[in-house]
Amino acid sequence: MSKIAEILKKETFTQSDIISLLESEGDDKQLLFKESAKIKKEQVENIVYYRGLIEFSNICDKNCEYCGIRADNSNVQRYNLTNEEIIKAADFAYKNCYASIVLQAGELANKVFINRVTTLIEKIKKSTNNEIGITLSLGEQTEETYQRWFNSGAHRYLLRIETTNSNLYKEIHPNNIRHNFETRLQCLELLKKIGYQVGSGVMVGLPFQTYSDLANDLLFMKIFDIDMCGMGPYIEHSETPLYQFRHLLEPKEKRFELTLKMIAILRIMMKDINIAASTALQAIDPMGREKAIKIGANIIMPNITPGKYRNNYKLYENKPCTNEDAEECNSCLEMRISLTDNEIGDGKWGDSLHFIKKNLQT
Ligand code: SAM
Ligand code: SF4
Repeated sequence: MSKIAEILKKETFTQSDIISLLESEGDDKQLLFKESAKIKKEQVENIVYYRGLIEFSNICDKNCEYCGIRADNSNVQRYNLTNEEIIKAADFAYKNCYASIVLQAGELANKVFINRVTTLIEKIKKSTNNEIGITLSLGEQTEETYQRWFNSGAHRYLLRIETTNSNLYKEIHPNNIRHNFETRLQCLELLKKIGYQVGSGVMVGLPFQTYSDLANDLLFMKIFDIDMCGMGPYIEHSETPLYQFRHLLEPKEKRFELTLKMIAILRIMMKDINIAASTALQAIDPMGREKAIKIGANIIMPNITPGKYRNNYKLYENKPCTNEDAEECNSCLEMRISLTDNEIGDGKWGDSLHFIKKNLQT
């Protein structure tokens, strides 16, 4: 029996097991993917849930060194959807049986922004008969703000840890109080304490990142006991400081493969969580998200931001679907999912089973 086959039989993986799985190639890699696909089918079934993604503003106060919409990038045309446009997009999701939306934007923490998001959550809930699920991806906020948004009706929150190596975190962020690894961790703890379904994740293939870092990232997600995960390949953007280290990067195809392996390993380690097939996968391979669904992911976030704004939410280069509108995205996705031997969980929230089971126990 091969070393990889031996590892795949274990109940829990050590850091060195995970590194071996990340290094697997050829038949070994196929063995890993076969196992993760099997576990997905057994544990969460071959059902894909949609989260309509509304990237409602690219205005950001922060300066993460990898991100194209960072505050200091003066080449970005900034936009902010009106409340009516956001509610209309949520309505589109509701009518098309998405059952759930994600409100994502650059990070702001001023009063006007906090009040606006509170109002938006309430209005969206009201206009959809309280039926649509709301996930937020709005960065680091105070406990009070997280609680307020939770009380208004949001019930899931995505906050990627980006990397669990605190030194690497420092390398890819400015060295100041607004970009602090400990604060990020504390925010994740707060979200859990309040009762959100908590999603986290990392970028894969960052400059200076090692396989040990990636293995530790997966172990962190297990120990922290996340409910959802979104991991995507890091893709360079020429108008960001991290671009200067592009010579240290693996080829994009390798970062893509590595992300698939991370998803597969996590599916085996955390069998019943929700795992997203990130848009960044599709930026490298047109069938990227479908490949992720085949080997373990069960969430897709179709972009339902009005088409005219999409070109300005460019976190990285070659971001896909920036020239489409929500209707076009919808029909394109349905066709793509049918190719993966999965069906769409129409009209169902598709909450993290991991979260549901955890709460039944307590
Ligand atoms: N501002 C919020 C935050 O940072 O949590 C939410 C929006 S932010 C654009 C969402 C995610 O985009 C980040 O967590 C980061 O992982 C990802 N991202 C940013 N720049 C990227 C890049 N160049 N390549 C891949 N992913 C990137
Ligand atoms: Fe802003 Fe998020 Fe981009 Fe950082 S990753 S610069 S917080 S939008």
